[in-house]
Amino acid sequence: MQHGYKCEDCETAVFPTTTRTELQWLRNRLHVAREVAQHSSGGLDSWMMEGLEFLNDHQGHAIVLVARR
Ligand SMILES: [Zn+2]
Repeated sequence: MQHGYKCEDCETAVFPTTTRTELQWLRNRLHVAREVAQHSSGGLDSWMMEGLEFLNDHQGHAIVLVARR
C-alpha cells in the first residue's frame, strides 16, 4: 500500500516513499517543515522535498491523503 497526497481541485496526486503518518505530519506542520527546508542545506529527505513541493504547488487547494495498492 502506498500513501500520497491528492489535490481534489487539480485531480493530480503524488506518492512519496513514506508512511501515512509522515505525510499527515508534514501536512499538519507545513509551516514548520517550510522553515526547516529554508534553513537546511539539502538535508531534507527526498519524500519530504517531494511532499513539500506538491503542497506548495497546490496552496489553497483541497489536499486529501489517499492510498493505492
Ligand atoms: Zn491543485
